[in-house]
Amino acid sequence: MPTESERDYDPSLGRKFIFVTGGVMSGLGKGITAASTGRLLANAGFDVTAVKIDPYLNVDAGTMNPFEHGEVYVLKDGGEVDLDLGNYERFLGLDMTSDHNITTGKVYQDVIENERAGEYLGKTVQIIPHVTDDIKRRVREAAVGSDVCIVEVGGTVGDIEGMPYLEALRQFAIEQDDEDVLFAHVTLVPYSKNGEQKTKPTQHSVKELRSIGLRPDIVVGRCSDHLEQETREKIALFCDVPQAAVFSNPDVEDIYRVPLELEEEGLDEFVLDSLGLRAEALSPAESNTEWRDRVTRAATETVTVAVVGKYGLEDAYISVHEALKHGGLELGVDVEREWVHAETLADGCDGQLAEIDAVVVPGGFGSRGTEGKIRAIQQAREQGVPFLGLCLGFQMAVVEYARNVLGLTGAHSAELDESTPHPVIDILPEQEGLDDMGGTMRLGTHTTDISDGTLAHDLYGDDCEERHRHRYEVNPDYIPDLEAAGLVFSGQSGRRMELVELPAHPYFVGTQFHPEFRSRPTRASPPFVGLLDAALDTGATTTQGVSQTAGGGN
Ligand code: GLN
Repeated sequence: MPTESERDYDPSLGRKFIFVTGGVMSGLGKGITAASTGRLLANAGFDVTAVKIDPYLNVDAGTMNPFEHGEVYVLKDGGEVDLDLGNYERFLGLDMTSDHNITTGKVYQDVIENERAGEYLGKTVQIIPHVTDDIKRRVREAAVGSDVCIVEVGGTVGDIEGMPYLEALRQFAIEQDDEDVLFAHVTLVPYSKNGEQKTKPTQHSVKELRSIGLRPDIVVGRCSDHLEQETREKIALFCDVPQAAVFSNPDVEDIYRVPLELEEEGLDEFVLDSLGLRAEALSPAESNTEWRDRVTRAATETVTVAVVGKYGLEDAYISVHEALKHGGLELGVDVEREWVHAETLADGCDGQLAEIDAVVVPGGFGSRGTEGKIRAIQQAREQGVPFLGLCLGFQMAVVEYARNVLGLTGAHSAELDESTPHPVIDILPEQEGLDDMGGTMRLGTHTTDISDGTLAHDLYGDDCEERHRHRYEVNPDYIPDLEAAGLVFSGQSGRRMELVELPAHPYFVGTQFHPEFRSRPTRASPPFVGLLDAALDTGATTTQGVSQTAGGGN
């Protein structure tokens, strides 16, 4: 098999590439910086896509614990991926596919399969060129059809796992024209005890990059404040970049303002010039301002929403958190999110939800905290508090109704209590007997048909296409009794119940799917908007007091 560099390279496979690496430490917001850069290029009229490289050995994020890694984000094709892909979809307004998440697991799986198939013609299979070729192929294929492809390398420069990727990018840059590739390095600029911005960590991480043959074209300094002039000069001098290529990315109250900050710094202009795209870019007067208008919208009221979950880590529910924000942006309200540990909810909720305008019970797996979630749902149902249940939250709403309205003592999901006398939630027939845990759930986009005259129909219209990730469903044997008792299943996908609601309640909606994965800042998800709207209508905000937020946004 010819190596990548021996093949004829078709330049139409994606025109320009921005490679984003990170220095000093992870968790700096490298993904947000990269996605924000993409947003600015999209505003200037370009088709932008992104690739996230995760140098771990897992094939995908599907089997990873959200407590350690944050949420597993689900793509339309069912790919279970790193939560950074969610940020790219939200910032770029795109629907990506699994091919946009490259993991070491995927790369090695391919290379080893090729080796077993004899495709390397007796050669010794090596990281260079076989692994690096596979990486380059994946990057090029993911970029097909885009003007600019942003490629973020997870982790930090110097990590052993990241080495083959950096080597692949080095080769990639040599194979392309100079103007087609830009390297951006996002690094930490900390303060010393006496309040001085320190550039030494940045110098070291750039030195590390250079030792593997990469030279950053841009350095973005993550710092609590803007970089001072002296700091910029030092970084330019020691990292061998022009001063105009050093940018600040200071802390902001809302991540959606990062593109505005970077624009202020002139990062977009620098990138357009470096990639030779200036002539094709829309002028500032013509460029798309939808993002700016949306995220700077002033809020006049505040809604407090309890998210009743199992993990204290906010990242574990990041898409729910963002979808609530998007709903707030659409309605022009501030959304205060209160993270309620389901396990701490006492019987009757003991006043713990008293200050709350709406309740969300998100998705999840395993029994921890489920009784608390059921209590929160009961409270919301009985007190007329707007409620939205997502996947497991939908299933627990059905369990709560079966127990407390139908009187089916011990009703539960078969996932959480194998010996329940009333498995109102049961395993999907096609899931029975599956041993493999990776990528085997009911995943990705499926169409739901929605019944006329329902609240769901008001939200969505005749149908909706939302993403799924589950193994269990409403047990068809219990549907007639649940419906006779007042529960309305307002959306179906084949035999599966996808939406539930309670007509007598101000807003009681459950979705078997995960609407949060398709929510965008400029296109909020209907069930979230409906929830916040109902929270405003029920007048709960007046008991909370109405806050005037000067800056708006969230
Ligand atoms: N554990 C439930 C199931 O597998 C719900 C999944 C979820 O909330 N994503 O059906």
